[in-house]
Amino acid sequence: MMSKRPTPDSALTLRFWGVRGSTPVSGPDYVEFGGSTPCLEIRCGERLFLIDAGSGLYNCGQFHRETLPKSVDLLFSHLHLDHTGGLPFFKPAVFDPERTVHTYCGNLDGASAEEALGRLFAPPLFPVTLDVLPCTLKHHGFKAGETLTFPDGMQVDTILLNHPQGSVGYRFQHGGKRLCVISDIEHSDPWPDPALKAFVAGADLMVYDGMFTDCEYPTCRGWGHSTWQKGVELARAANVKALGIIHLHPCHSDARLRSVEAEMQAEMPAAFIARERQVVEVGAPVRKVRSKGLALAAIA
Ligand SMILES: [Zn+2]
Ligand SMILES: [Zn+2]
Repeated sequence: MMSKRPTPDSALTLRFWGVRGSTPVSGPDYVEFGGSTPCLEIRCGERLFLIDAGSGLYNCGQFHRETLPKSVDLLFSHLHLDHTGGLPFFKPAVFDPERTVHTYCGNLDGASAEEALGRLFAPPLFPVTLDVLPCTLKHHGFKAGETLTFPDGMQVDTILLNHPQGSVGYRFQHGGKRLCVISDIEHSDPWPDPALKAFVAGADLMVYDGMFTDCEYPTCRGWGHSTWQKGVELARAANVKALGIIHLHPCHSDARLRSVEAEMQAEMPAAFIARERQVVEVGAPVRKVRSKGLALAAIA
């Protein structure tokens, strides 16, 4: 079961609020891995970062409704709809006039997300514009590759990823642990890319875009996504200790993903396919907990 007890200051933790790629899905085939699009909660001790505003951001907002900080840092991998569509549904946070949500966008050559989000969230595509929300939204732009330094001194490293219009990978270091989030990305040939290998080197956990399998990939070349096999290759080459796969294909059912996960774990035992709401303490062994017929993964 999920818990809200405080995490030790030295812990680096990750909670997956959305792991599905491209479009949300629902129904009996998506009970275990979930259907919400990308949203990740990262905690350095209690210090919160969010990555992406997919539809999973709604549940994140509801779960933390009483405990969110007054200032929230939301780092975009990029602005495709599956990573932005949840932003106005980040309730109750966006209805709180005393709250500031800072967005960070690094794939537009230094421009912030403000103009793009202004086009997306406006009639007739959306009933209102974001400026009607009571919270304060502050949009920051940077260039992927820069290290972000926040007012409290926290630093997060970034890297540009190969994806249509680009995408940003993030590296968090806290309490002697290292977490890299590498999505959305299409692998290069040859692989692994040397700059990416250096960026993720020695990570305790790498979260990686494994939307396709190697079998499926040839018909989806150029779509901007990768395979779990390329994730394992990168992890091995860069001495990454554990691998979590996200951006799951909308047509991959629970049964299919369970079988893909078993195949992957035969190659790399410390690899897993992320489940929505799964909590992982970076650097600790991942174990699975079965509850009420649902397989929830949690950390030992
Ligand atoms: Zn995506
Ligand atoms: Zn994308």
